[in-house]
Amino acid sequence: MCGIVGYIGHREAYPVVLNGLKRLEYRGYDSAGIAIYDGSNLKFSKTKGKVADLQLKMESEINTSGTIGIGHTRWATHGVPNDVNSHPHFSNSGELVIIHNGIIENYDPLKKELIKRGYTFKSDTDTEVLVNLIEDVQKKEGVKLGKAVQIALNQTIGAYAIAVFDKKKPDEIVVARLGSPLAIGVGENEFFIASDASPFLEFTKEAIYLEDGEMAVIRTHKEIKIRKIHDDSLVDPYVQELQMNLEQIEKGGYEHFMLKEIYEQPDAIRDTFRGRMLVNEGIIRMAGVDDNIDKFLNAKRIIIVACGTSWHAGLVAEYIFEELARVPVEVEYASEFRYRNPVIDKDDVVIAISQSGETADTMAAIKMAKEQGAFVFGVCNVVGSSISRETHAGAYTHAGPEIGVASTKAFTTQITVLTLMALQLAKRKGKISTSDFHKYLVELESIPNKVTLALKSNEHIEEVAAIYKNTKNCLYLGRGFNFPVALEGALKLKEISYIHAEGYPAAEMKHGPIALIDEEMPVVVIATKKGHYEKVVSNIQEIKSRSGKIIGIVTEGDVDVRDLADHVIEVPETIEFLTPLLTTIPLQLLSYHIAVMLGKNVDQPRNLAKSVTVE
Ligand code: GLU
Repeated sequence: MCGIVGYIGHREAYPVVLNGLKRLEYRGYDSAGIAIYDGSNLKFSKTKGKVADLQLKMESEINTSGTIGIGHTRWATHGVPNDVNSHPHFSNSGELVIIHNGIIENYDPLKKELIKRGYTFKSDTDTEVLVNLIEDVQKKEGVKLGKAVQIALNQTIGAYAIAVFDKKKPDEIVVARLGSPLAIGVGENEFFIASDASPFLEFTKEAIYLEDGEMAVIRTHKEIKIRKIHDDSLVDPYVQELQMNLEQIEKGGYEHFMLKEIYEQPDAIRDTFRGRMLVNEGIIRMAGVDDNIDKFLNAKRIIIVACGTSWHAGLVAEYIFEELARVPVEVEYASEFRYRNPVIDKDDVVIAISQSGETADTMAAIKMAKEQGAFVFGVCNVVGSSISRETHAGAYTHAGPEIGVASTKAFTTQITVLTLMALQLAKRKGKISTSDFHKYLVELESIPNKVTLALKSNEHIEEVAAIYKNTKNCLYLGRGFNFPVALEGALKLKEISYIHAEGYPAAEMKHGPIALIDEEMPVVVIATKKGHYEKVVSNIQEIKSRSGKIIGIVTEGDVDVRDLADHVIEVPETIEFLTPLLTTIPLQLLSYHIAVMLGKNVDQPRNLAKSVTVE
């Protein structure tokens, strides 16, 4: 995820693009770049760092005048954040210039083919492959830029919002989108392009939002031509009048970043398995795992180190790895592990999980594990982060920037990556049949749609939240794969609403917490159909006998828990080990609504920081 901005018209493009990038920095902020064409020179600057760093560099290095320009603030997916990997990228001739938000999954075979045809590459990005593919098509087919973009995009697999122009035709920008957003601001003989409308709000309120699979050729003094990329059919431009203010646009119309990020989970999960899970071919491709498969196959044990929500993702992974790959797993708080002289063997594989990739305790645990000879694998969201550099290998969650301090999409995408790893290992160890492996891939592929269905309970969850918002305590119970989800649900409530909450394995309740239960105590019980369902139903009976208030998270169509519980929230059915990806959703929404109703600062809860870089 990143921010893209473009301008074509009669104004100076640079201030429009620069200020636009500043507004889009919330979408990604590891590097930035701008290219401007003034009719004879194509001028550009790009740098690792913030838009403010780019501004300093650009204004000191080049003359920024020109009326066509594009800019990018990057959230790296392919290649570490550095100056060379920053966008814009140029074709080998230096004539085409592109900015791109998204992932070209099949960039590797395309790149190999282009190298055979004599192309060279400066960066590690998938984007540079795309711009050269467009140039190659242009040359081979002798077609105009718009057509070349269309032909090239039809050869790609993946997600994109792109803007590209040819310095030979400086009155035209070609844009396209699939899976990443793109808005076009329509002015008087001028057009604005951006990931959302915030960069052009002060210039025009008229906007066209491209739909997935559409591209547009934008020419000054002409109408916009929008087509379907796939079949070339023309689409009538639908110009809307913007009603939202700046802040609403940044948050995608949601009241808080946390809510936006909760709703981004279907896409975030899809982006995380994109290019790694090839369902039709029945394979998983994860370079970090595949290149080190012997380490995983020979591992006598896996040790997962993490903190906070990532630690909960580690616990879910423990259940999944043990179930599928039959390898013993231990999950450690990084802060404890680093100080307690743990026994680490060189045959151990250590998996470190951290959204930011900067968590100080996790970093220290990694260093210790490496010193003792273990192979260390990182699961981070931020490309090029300290943990991604410090580990021997790793896999990124492609969740995009998470701005809400309480982690949501980072958690579900961590589980997604760890599930892919467990499946791959299980297959390579011969612990699951080919048909089961395939069945699991198909089911995992359906999870984003099921998350979307789970999100449809939002209004009902808000009603439940209104009933319990003034509670002083709350208990969360789950078993098996959903025990860590209970912990995560309790943590979410604590973090953003400051209500005391505890997560417990449901069966442990009778060894202590049951004493807390009375008519004042809401108990959230994850009671999905598979996974010790009858046992959980018995636990619910025990709560009911003590007058506790029960909020059941159940499988669609459930009858038994509905009879016992005060409220039920349904999630779609799935394979047992994938249920955490669905049961987490209502718990996130429940905490969110309670915190909002209590007037708390949801995105920046007191005393917390997004990335914990201190011990
Ligand atoms: N895949 C591209 C890159 O790594 C674009 C990432 C983005 O959306 O910022 O540079």
